[in-house]
Amino acid sequence: MPEPIVEIAHSEEFSASHRLHDPALSDEENRALYGLCNNPNGHGHNYELEVFVRGPVPASGMVMNLTDLMRLMREELLPRLDHKHLNHDVPFLEGIIPTAENIALAIWKELEEPIASFGEARLSRIRLRESRGNWVEVQAGPSTPTA
Ligand SMILES: [Zn+2]
Repeated sequence: MPEPIVEIAHSEEFSASHRLHDPALSDEENRALYGLCNNPNGHGHNYELEVFVRGPVPASGMVMNLTDLMRLMREELLPRLDHKHLNHDVPFLEGIIPTAENIALAIWKELEEPIASFGEARLSRIRLRESRGNWVEVQAGPSTPTA
């Protein structure tokens, strides 16, 4: 029987605005591709960010201390996203069309190393909800080492 895999998760919310617009396309092509999300002055979302961490369960009984994960998200990451315009205010999103997919991938890159610095646990999944019905997930790929 394969060993069970243990994941822990913490979720936080942030509010941000964005505009989906590809400067390589014409205004008409952008409207056709992104619809309402191409609105010239942007629009907002209340995002829910869920971060999953996977690893062995050591003597402490904790894959990773959830307080450390919460602090990392609340104190290091969210101040850079909350109440920001994702097209203009966030250096780690510069030059990126801020779709939920791209935001989640960029958050992955921001969190991967800090999470690994706590011990053996590794970032395994990020779920970013843009609305109640729409979300994206980024998962560790086969080449991404997970504990
Ligand atoms: Zn949007």
